[in-house]
Amino acid sequence: MAEFDKADIEKLMDGVLPWPATQDMLKSSKDEDRFDKYVEIMQSRVQFKETILLPLTPQLFIVSESNQRVVKCGCGHSFGDYRVNWKLSSLIHVRDDEASMSEVYKGREMPDPAWVQLREYICPNCGAQLEVEAVPRGCPPDFEFLPDLDTFYSEWLGRPLPDTVEFADKTLDRIAEWSE
Ligand SMILES: [Zn+2]
Repeated sequence: MAEFDKADIEKLMDGVLPWPATQDMLKSSKDEDRFDKYVEIMQSRVQFKETILLPLTPQLFIVSESNQRVVKCGCGHSFGDYRVNWKLSSLIHVRDDEASMSEVYKGREMPDPAWVQLREYICPNCGAQLEVEAVPRGCPPDFEFLPDLDTFYSEWLGRPLPDTVEFADKTLDRIAEWSE
């Protein structure tokens, strides 16, 4: 099995690995510790010390913090329990008219603002744009990825996490708390 070192993986992530080397890496079977190398690289780039359990995007991570699993921005801002859609705790910039949408779309590419709105989810601490979604008006924020962390660590990585938590989408519970 081909082994690629961390420096190669880092170059691949940054898009600066030469194409022949990239092809070589893509074609070969994956090193068993590829995930660990990837997490190690991300851990060295973020501005917090807590352990990354799983990167959700290059800027957003599930992190172990005081025995809780929370979503954090690379800047260290916490969005709370990873089982609640982090978008509920972000700043949301909505484009839902022609004037604001035309800053993003050109001509016929623009969706009809009567039907579609563009939502930009922004970190309240560092201002990074973390996600963008174009959805029908009234559609709840899309919860893109709720991973089963315990299964992933125990069955895929072969090293269970020290604790287990109920694997369930808690987003509606959080919304219900708002109306109490
Ligand atoms: Zn941030």
